[in-house]
Amino acid sequence: MAQTFDYDLMVIGAGSGGVRAARKSAEFGVRVAVVEESALGGTCVNVGCIPKKLYVYASEYGRAWREAQGFGWLGERPTFDWSTLRDNKSKEIARLNAIYERLLAAPGVDILSGHGRLINPHEVQVGDQIYRTKHVLLATGTWPNMPEIPGAELAISSNEVFDLPQLPDRILIIGGGYIATEFAGIFNGLGATVVQSYRGALFLRGFDSAVRHFLAGEMRSAGVDLRFDHHVHSLARNHSGAITAQLSDGAETFDAVLSATGRRPNVTDLGLENTGVTLTDKGYIAVDNEFRTSDPAIFALGDMTGGWELTPVAIAEAMAFSQTQFGQQPTLADYDNIPTAVFSQPPIGTVGLTEEEAVAAGHQVTIYESSFRPLRHTVSGVEERSLMKLVVDAASDRVLGAHMVGADAGEICQGLAIALRIGATKADFDRTIGIHPTAAEEFVTMRTPRD
Ligand code: FAD
Ligand code: NDP
Repeated sequence: MAQTFDYDLMVIGAGSGGVRAARKSAEFGVRVAVVEESALGGTCVNVGCIPKKLYVYASEYGRAWREAQGFGWLGERPTFDWSTLRDNKSKEIARLNAIYERLLAAPGVDILSGHGRLINPHEVQVGDQIYRTKHVLLATGTWPNMPEIPGAELAISSNEVFDLPQLPDRILIIGGGYIATEFAGIFNGLGATVVQSYRGALFLRGFDSAVRHFLAGEMRSAGVDLRFDHHVHSLARNHSGAITAQLSDGAETFDAVLSATGRRPNVTDLGLENTGVTLTDKGYIAVDNEFRTSDPAIFALGDMTGGWELTPVAIAEAMAFSQTQFGQQPTLADYDNIPTAVFSQPPIGTVGLTEEEAVAAGHQVTIYESSFRPLRHTVSGVEERSLMKLVVDAASDRVLGAHMVGADAGEICQGLAIALRIGATKADFDRTIGIHPTAAEEFVTMRTPRD
């Protein structure tokens, strides 16, 4: 007897990857439903990229006001109101949630609200309904990892940080990755006292070491109390309601503690035990290069598969998945030269190999590096400096990596990513006319290699 299915594809998780896969697959004419237990748009829209960037913007105005005085803008400094920012952020996210709903509805995707749980590889339970589906796509993302220390329940994660009832006067941020470093800048810019605690010798593991050292110096001079080789042993609520943290250098009191200690795949009560899906040794969903899990009916993509945890990567994977499975256009996701930015203050932009990676891969490298005071700060009075670095393969002259710390680094490195993708050489960079006066022109005017 032929099997009957309610859907050709059920996507569990309406985040960056799930929404794109659902929309694109429906456009190819297959019957699609997406299951979402929280808000449409997932981590990026609701508690990630979007609110984070809005808070970065908010936090930059305080310094902009100070800088403006050097340019002749005088007068009283306005005060910052956390609840205005928080509520305007929430309004914008509600607007985006509605847009996502329309984007899914347009090609005919059914939105099923609730927790999705696999009963077997072809049946998904949502609430008290069971749906039969030919294929399942898992795109349930990741969830914050909290440190295993006494009192860890007193710490918040990035899920809660945007909706704090008020701006903390003193905040402890645990971690040395993207989230910890971005929020250190946000809270510092908004006027809080910030201690960022990182367990290793230098934060932002995996980034170019020149970038890591440079950013640490800039953040410290901007007022962040950055502590390396530093540990948080325990947290406890004290009699005044604040949190006392036992740190490797003594006890201190904070109004809030943000843990940004990485994320783990979101597979809670997903019913994987009822399927043939297997996990990698780090607990991510194991997939091949077409996003097939070890169960023939089930695919997975995005953060939960343990690759680059970035929205554009989840979207690229979703496009490749839909085109391959339903569009008769076999496509592999391309992970070469993925650009990324840390929206720290100042921000990092980067694409391609770090100096350390290039050397480890056997390249003989020539390094071009420049640090300078941006024009704006010659009058603003702010001491901030920028760093630019090119990693060049000495044999072929090909630019292997471009790295920057400084204003608009993400915007600048997006363009450089195209140059690296098409194999630009250092001579191509040198032949390119700069745009003057910009910071970005430094990338095409560096002529003397570092010793
Ligand atoms: P997600 O977007 O996490 O979506 C998963 C969805 O599945 C969620 O909506 C969840 O509610 C739902 N779900 C889970 N389990 C179930 C279930 N059983 N049933 C139903 N629904 C379920 N990336 C960038 O590129 N740039 C940035 O600036 C950036 N900033 C970030 C800032 C923060 C604070 C964080 C946490 C992340 C940030 N990221 C950023 C990473 C980015 O958010 C992720 O890479 C991206 O959201 C991954 O998409 P995804 O589809 O894999 O999962
Ligand atoms: P990251 O993996 O970037 O950083 C986690 C940090 O926590 C590391 O410094 C790690 O240290 C530390 N850590 C891990 N476990 C512990 C522990 N038990 N105790 C103390 N410290 C610990 O994760 P994030 O949570 O910052 O962000 C998750 C991902 O989301 C990022 O990797 C990124 O892909 C994505 N993201 C992207 C953004 C962007 O594009 N701008 C912004 C925010 C997030 P160690 O290095 O020693 O392991």
